[in-house]
Amino acid sequence: MSKEPASSKPAPDESAPSPKPDKPESKVIAVVNQKGGVGKTTTAINLAASLALEGIPTLLIDCDPQANSSGGLGLTRQAEGEEPRLSTYDLLMGATTLAEAVQPTEIENLKLVPSSKNLIGATIELISAEKREFRLRDAIEPVRSQYRFIVLDCPPALDLLTLNALVASDGLLVPMQAEYFALEGISELMSTLDKVTGAFNPGLVLEGVLMTMYDDRTNLAMQVTENLKGFFTDKLLKTTIPRNVRLAEAPSHGKPVALYDPKSRGAEAYRELALELLSRNGLESPEVKRRKAAAAAAASSLKSFQAPQKKSRFWSK
Ligand code: ATP
Ligand code: MG
Repeated sequence: MSKEPASSKPAPDESAPSPKPDKPESKVIAVVNQKGGVGKTTTAINLAASLALEGIPTLLIDCDPQANSSGGLGLTRQAEGEEPRLSTYDLLMGATTLAEAVQPTEIENLKLVPSSKNLIGATIELISAEKREFRLRDAIEPVRSQYRFIVLDCPPALDLLTLNALVASDGLLVPMQAEYFALEGISELMSTLDKVTGAFNPGLVLEGVLMTMYDDRTNLAMQVTENLKGFFTDKLLKTTIPRNVRLAEAPSHGKPVALYDPKSRGAEAYRELALELLSRNGLESPEVKRRKAAAAAAASSLKSFQAPQKKSRFWSK
């Protein structure tokens, strides 16, 4: 008599990769360029807002003492004597948790950790602190799984604040203006990336280079694009951000451009950027998925509504 196997289930394959944990992956992206005025803050605000409007839980952390991202999302300056709100400064000093410092915004899926002027002091105050480069990374860790994307707006310097952002990040997004000196300073940024990868954060990669304030009618812009393509190859993003006055106006209304003027070229460009980043990360926008499903449902109900009409026309002939 043949012996029945104890179980019909195959024995577990020890070499098979273990299943991925249920926890959704999250990605921290630092918007960085030590050059001033290249569109870091405009990109941080509008990329974060566009991701959130696509249905992606997103957090923006303002890491710049200028606090332009905070103002651009509607957080007003505080009056004299008012209880100061918790900010990135308190996070870096270990005086609060990220969960306590986070603020809601007009967009449901978008949260903000604001900055404040005193953040500039953190660079000096942390100079002899232990693990000073890891302050932001450690602060983000407990809330990471709540957000699919965390966007960091960096100051125009390669200082301890930017270093904290680089150590906390998975990817760098580098906005650049299409100008003759665009590549100036980039070798310094790339060697900083190498140093951070080597010393603190081996997982850090260049997520993409974004051309901002772009005017494709000029020969110079096309020439610079060719140079950047040669230098960055597939890291140069397909999306370019045009010069658009609505992008410059929106922060004074405390709104991302997608709420200030959703039909503007600036709003369209930042939505395209969000979709490009999602697709580069193998993700589909929940909002696009929802619209596709609604369109398919509408098409199928239209079909079933039209079918009997055709039939009755046939018989009446
Ligand atoms: P900083 O280095 O000072 O932090 P930044 O790199 O964050 O500057 P932004 O503040 O985003 O740069 O932009 C600089 C100026 O250019 C702002 O006045 C902004 O409104 C404007 N600006 C940015 N992008 C565009 C654009 N695509 N079209 C028109 N104006 C823009
Ligand atoms: Mg800025």
